[in-house]
Amino acid sequence: MQVIRVGDAEIRSALEMTLPERPIAWLGADPALVEANRDWLAPHFLQEGDTWSLEFRSWILQVDGKVVVVDPCTGDGRPHPMPIFDRLSTPFIERFHATGVRPEEVDYVFCTHMHHDHCGWNTQLRGGRWVPTFPNARYLFLRREYDRWGPQAASHRTVDYNAGVFERSILPIVEAGLADLVLDHHRVLPGLEIEHAPGHTLGHAVLRLFSDGQEACFSGDSCHHPLQLVEPTIQFGDCDDIGAAVATRRRIAALSLERNALIIPAHLPAPHAGWVRRSGERLVFEGLRD
Ligand SMILES: [Zn+2]
Repeated sequence: MQVIRVGDAEIRSALEMTLPERPIAWLGADPALVEANRDWLAPHFLQEGDTWSLEFRSWILQVDGKVVVVDPCTGDGRPHPMPIFDRLSTPFIERFHATGVRPEEVDYVFCTHMHHDHCGWNTQLRGGRWVPTFPNARYLFLRREYDRWGPQAASHRTVDYNAGVFERSILPIVEAGLADLVLDHHRVLPGLEIEHAPGHTLGHAVLRLFSDGQEACFSGDSCHHPLQLVEPTIQFGDCDDIGAAVATRRRIAALSLERNALIIPAHLPAPHAGWVRRSGERLVFEGLRD
């Protein structure tokens, strides 16, 4: 079990699933740029046969005496138009327990955004109803993201791959009285702050951790591949606002360069996290070592 330490904070994770061996071309980066960065991309972020992989995992953070879950994956038993996500049945909850944390012990759940793979395990199906998986937690949602996905708001727009997610994974939390809709900048604990970091979705946010002089940033889907932190204009996947997404990636890279913040994205394969560093004339991403 990997434990990442940032100051006095401890970070563990539970894996839901992996999307292995995608051609690197899928990322949409200029092949010459991939070539120019091969030395640091391989072997973790450029794998056998010029492929890469995405992992879907939740981060479990212990800081200031509290337990915080970040981005609880897709969840079991939900219909999805993409077969790989359709009606999952994974050992996620067993893996969660294997971290030594029980769901009842979680104090906060934070979703960087409301795509299906970041809020699914907010709930689970019990007796035909979607009920909270973390019954004693406060669930922290950015109001702006809630308004992006909730059918009650003017900014509501649907996308096929997220149909029903709000109704299954967000609304039952609100109805159970466990949701806190927070503003664009919100201090959760002395060492933990939510910050609006838009682009991927309009209300996408990151979670910044400060402990004993060290920093980390749970960056959600600000980037899906570390090459995007070196070259922020690489756009992968669906996106509400490309210009804002590029600006957010620059900001995340700067956090690492200027403040030595460990960047912890949602979908990186091992080593799962790292730092943007200067190396001569260029930037590189240095993965975390055990
Ligand atoms: Zn995602």
